[in-house]
Amino acid sequence: MNRPFITREHLKVLIKVLKSSCDEFIAPRREHLTDIVFGDAKTGGGELPDYDGNSVISPRAFLLPQTEPLFEIKSARRSELAPIEDKRTRVFYGVRPCDIKALVLMREFFIEREFADEPYKTKMGRSTFIALACSKRCSAKAFCDEMGAGPVAKSGFDLQMRAVSRGYIIDIGSEKGEKIVGENKRLFKRASPQDEKEAKAVLKDFTKEPEKIDYKKLAKTMANDSVEPSVWDDIGQRCVICSGCVTLCPTCGCFSVVDRISGDRGERLRYCDGCPYAGFTRMAGGSAPFPLHKDHIRRFFEHKLNHDVDRYGTPSCVGCARCIETCPGNISIRKLIREAVK
Ligand code: SF4
Ligand code: SF4
Repeated sequence: MNRPFITREHLKVLIKVLKSSCDEFIAPRREHLTDIVFGDAKTGGGELPDYDGNSVISPRAFLLPQTEPLFEIKSARRSELAPIEDKRTRVFYGVRPCDIKALVLMREFFIEREFADEPYKTKMGRSTFIALACSKRCSAKAFCDEMGAGPVAKSGFDLQMRAVSRGYIIDIGSEKGEKIVGENKRLFKRASPQDEKEAKAVLKDFTKEPEKIDYKKLAKTMANDSVEPSVWDDIGQRCVICSGCVTLCPTCGCFSVVDRISGDRGERLRYCDGCPYAGFTRMAGGSAPFPLHKDHIRRFFEHKLNHDVDRYGTPSCVGCARCIETCPGNISIRKLIREAVK
């Protein structure tokens, strides 16, 4: 049977229904004339049903914010703590496939481990993800297709929309997605063979078979320390430690915690941390196993292209190119991959 289909008019109605079903409707909107950013459209409005390109910051920012309170310290003296729970339900609308894949990878790190990260797990459990497949490459530097993350998401979404001229073909990715379609039957019909044909045709920007990267070979090259030392020297010289890469990367999940105490009371916060910082792996007593700056930024690449292949069997880069676009040193993970496996 053909997949569900929704017209642009009915999509507006569905958005209203979804907005009323959650505490926050996290959707794309425009800022500074052209930039796409995600925000809560229940309070801010201005959501875009569709858009070109990708957001400056990924929706990760709502699941792992830069700073997040974890506990209230009711009494430091008596070690009395009360967890701060984020109970809001969220619908993430219009998320690009690369960012959906990033959330699948983040799930491995935060949820599918021996000890799940409860704040992250709770937020994910209360969230619904509506993906928006790409019909154009979002930037000349993006390489989602080479990383198996785009232009269409394979999993990790509840619903996925694929634009065609009459509206959107819908992929159902979960029971939650099935329920949304089931409860709003009047808004959906079935995609026609012509819609399906068009959905294939709009992927023409991506039809050229992407150059396959041998991730295992790449990880091995890194693990054996066989990348030309001059490559790390160049990267180390060009990195100005602005932290743009780790701040914008949708798969960066490293954090640290700090207690803010005033008198006997306070709170424990977690904040995003990152490989480029000199203090990231500084140990108790002050010793630094990686004293050189080129080693700090090297960690960013080693983590994504070597350690995560070892741990999860796949690199944790989705080819969104945010780190490349933002880097003042013009450092490119895509070029590094090519240099490392040439
Ligand atoms: S964006 Fe570039 S300059 Fe900034 S920390 Fe990352 S690698 Fe260094
Ligand atoms: S490493 Fe760069 S290209 Fe890869 S997912 Fe992170 S920001 Fe995107």
